[in-house]
Amino acid sequence: MIVMKFGGTSVANFEAITRAIFIVGGRLDKKPVVVVSALSKVTDLLYRISDAAASGNVGEVKTLMGELRSRHVNLASDLLEQSPALKENAVARVNSICDSLEELVNAVCAVGELSDRNKAIIISNGELLSSTIICFVMNAKGIRTNFIDARKMMITSNEYLKGEPVVDEIVKRVPEVVAEAYKGMDAVITQGFIGSNAAGEQTVLGRGGSDYSASLIGMAIDAERIEIWTDVDGVRSADPRAVENTKYLEKISFEEAAEMAHFGAKVLHPLTIEPAVKKNIPIYVLNSMNPSGKGTAILRNELIEDGVKSVSFKENIRVINIFSMKMINTSGFLRRVFEIFSESRVSVDLISTSEANISVTVDASEKIDKVVEQLSEFADVIVDDDKSQVSVIGKNIVRLNGMLKKTFAPLKRTNVYMISQGASFVNISFVVDREELKEVVRDLHYHLFEVEEELEQF
Ligand code: ADP
Ligand code: ASP
Ligand code: MG
Repeated sequence: MIVMKFGGTSVANFEAITRAIFIVGGRLDKKPVVVVSALSKVTDLLYRISDAAASGNVGEVKTLMGELRSRHVNLASDLLEQSPALKENAVARVNSICDSLEELVNAVCAVGELSDRNKAIIISNGELLSSTIICFVMNAKGIRTNFIDARKMMITSNEYLKGEPVVDEIVKRVPEVVAEAYKGMDAVITQGFIGSNAAGEQTVLGRGGSDYSASLIGMAIDAERIEIWTDVDGVRSADPRAVENTKYLEKISFEEAAEMAHFGAKVLHPLTIEPAVKKNIPIYVLNSMNPSGKGTAILRNELIEDGVKSVSFKENIRVINIFSMKMINTSGFLRRVFEIFSESRVSVDLISTSEANISVTVDASEKIDKVVEQLSEFADVIVDDDKSQVSVIGKNIVRLNGMLKKTFAPLKRTNVYMISQGASFVNISFVVDREELKEVVRDLHYHLFEVEEELEQF
């Protein structure tokens, strides 16, 4: 069996869905479990609907709900034009999902208050709608496809908006649910991103979580491979939206991919790699607009060569500087500091320490008020906003001769605030002012990936 996950742009519209189904059709001998995201931009739309409802904005809710409904109804009608009976069923199903959502959203709007529990229900509808439509269209095209509600098998913790997968439960349920659904079928389809807690309440895995769903499902069914179909020709040496001449990477290691994703490369959800590594399942990142391309293979460490693979970045981070004379010669100080971060579930990226100071970086989206308040009880705390974090990633780069010089030489005129060499030998990271980020990333990429190629051409 294989898992085939299609991201938002790969199922964005008529053409994209037609292409995605054609790709699945070519892999039926591998018994695919198809995992889909919401149509491109639909999850954003659902967030806007949640915000409008939470602030009691009836007019806005109505407009946005209309947009959501018409996009899906029109798409279902267009895709199923040739199969009137299926079209009627699909449109009725889409309308019924939208009706339930509208009922909830109107109730939220009336009280002007939105719980995380209801927010999870609202934003899960993107995946429910896309998978419903695509399932109908696959059947219309002659691929007998069964619909799996991911909430029956993707069990998470109680955090409605960022549920942590309960792996034991997922590993138990997924093979059973998939095997049952596969009976007499050519394929099955389910939703990425969404799940439920043990009590059966709606949860989601956090933004971009469909990749993570695919990988968890792949692990649970011992998939031969996990395919992540997206809108780029595989993983590249940097985000092609930020750097012009990025290089295609034919293969990278699990560890390199995990570091890239964790340190900002949005091509994969940061936790995607972990389940695949457990069972040593290769992940392929492929372009649904260029299905014959080779994509990038993400494989075990031993199969990958040493060397720089990527420049990744997180654009909006904060540096929290913690100063205390008590730190000197006090063994429990660091423990206390990190307990505070852990209790508030604020995740720390980079850490550097000196005699009486610890600096850490956190994503700007993390809520740090409570952390700062608690740290301030025994230390002086200064928070620097508007910083960015840049990471050079590649197998064993920390051990490569001259790598630090190569990394920092292009940055002569840049203020560098923190430097951290990953304990794993794969990562050199540092912090710069946000306004300098774009130039730093371009310069660095040029020196690490483009200069030598230019010289070779002479
Ligand atoms: P999907 O909707 O398929 O999940 P995403 O937008 O989440 O797609 O991820 C694909 C995008 O990731 C690409 O369009 C690209 O701009 C971005 N990206 C960031 N870093 C990289 C990288 N190193 N290699 C390739 N793509 C990257
Ligand atoms: N639809 C969700 C999001 O936009 C999940 C995903 O696309 O991976 O965040
Ligand atoms: Mg994504």
